[in-house]
Amino acid sequence: MSPTATAPASSHDGQVSVFGEGIAYFNEAAAKLELNENMKRVLTHPSRQVIISIPFARDNGSFEVFTGFRVQYNFARGPAKGGVRFHPGVTLDEVTALAFWMTWKCAVVDLPFGGAKGGVTCDPATLSPAENERLTRRYTAEIIEIIGPDKDVPAPDVGTNPQTMAWMMDTVSMHLRGYTPGVVTGKPLCVGGSRGRVEATGRGVMIMIEAALEKQGKSLNGATVAVQGFGNVGSISAKLLHEHGAKVVAISDAFTGVHNKDGIDVAAAISHVTNPTNVKRSLEGFAGGDTISNTQLLELPCDILVPAALENQITKKNVKNIKAHLIAEGANGPTTADANKILAEGGITVIPDILANAGGVTVSYFEWAQDRAGYYWKESEVNERLKDVLRENFDAVWQTAKEHGTDLRTAAYMVAIRRVADSYTTRGFYA
Ligand code: NAD
Repeated sequence: MSPTATAPASSHDGQVSVFGEGIAYFNEAAAKLELNENMKRVLTHPSRQVIISIPFARDNGSFEVFTGFRVQYNFARGPAKGGVRFHPGVTLDEVTALAFWMTWKCAVVDLPFGGAKGGVTCDPATLSPAENERLTRRYTAEIIEIIGPDKDVPAPDVGTNPQTMAWMMDTVSMHLRGYTPGVVTGKPLCVGGSRGRVEATGRGVMIMIEAALEKQGKSLNGATVAVQGFGNVGSISAKLLHEHGAKVVAISDAFTGVHNKDGIDVAAAISHVTNPTNVKRSLEGFAGGDTISNTQLLELPCDILVPAALENQITKKNVKNIKAHLIAEGANGPTTADANKILAEGGITVIPDILANAGGVTVSYFEWAQDRAGYYWKESEVNERLKDVLRENFDAVWQTAKEHGTDLRTAAYMVAIRRVADSYTTRGFYA
């Protein structure tokens, strides 16, 4: 392990720093809260950044060394918490930004967790199941001293899934000579997973959209929706929004997009991408509408837009073409700070990522609690408690936005920062 000293201010390749985008949001909320300088300094630095090298043998005998990361941004309110991403674009800057967002996401829905994120720079589409398992286990072994139910609790993210979590849990359990289900969340049910976890992020997106529409005196009934990204978050969001009365008119993934103004058959699209012969889990070949590009999807006339793929999708370049009046950020960081300002000025309501996609980490918290108690809940109980947590904290953010005359993103950061700062003030900085 080689921890680096400080937070990166920009990415290595000169592109927009994702962490820099996050800091811009933080600064705006911190100014509204009149946060003191020392607190600001502490909260804009990750607690720990770890970079690891992962020796990796392919099935065909060839050999490579991959780079992996684990960033533990903050522990003030509890063990660090956050997913593991396997993607070719993973960098220290991106993982730091994602760990930063996890800190505020856990705080804004009042979970007793800090924030973390991990990743490996690799293309999981090129890995056989056996290669994926070896990579996962070696990555886990490299970070084993810093993760655990009381230290840092990983979960799935882009390119990883419940099986990845089962391998991580097993690796830690084997090294510790015990059974440690609470070390990761998002596991399959048979190894200590929670009912409702797979659907939780998409369910949270739907709950938050309903809450926002209710405040605006509107409803989901007949509302048209476009969803970018058709993986875990995008596909479940689309399915639940459809089941709750909305008309899903467009979906897309990394390969293609589909538009149908009469409504897409979401269940058929899910069957298409989950068909075992569809190894890329792609919408390519799905005959449910006209083919469109991701750019076209974002700019379609619709009531609600759900970006549920990757960062920096809504930017200064395309923001003026967006026609939706409500955006629910299923993905982390899909809107750049510049674009966010333009959306706010245009009166477009944005349910920010840290709130809109917090359903996943909320049920992860339930999973962690169930693992520690060794007592597992019914799915109806999970879904009911999820709705309670999300509704209560959505209201807190909405109220803060009204009181301070801000957009929901600034208000969400204000609620979260205030909670983390309160913990620090009470615990002390140990400086
Ligand atoms: P996933 O790997 O299951 O799916 C990602 C989807 O996005 C795939 O359909 C992929 O083809 C598509 N995609 C990738 N690049 C794209 C591009 N350039 N344009 C359009 N589509 C593209 O991942 P996921 O778990 O659904 O995560 C999606 C987003 O949601 C990420 O930002 C992730 O951090 C965030 N998120 C996930 C969870 C969770 O519980 N899975 C929780 C909170 C936030």
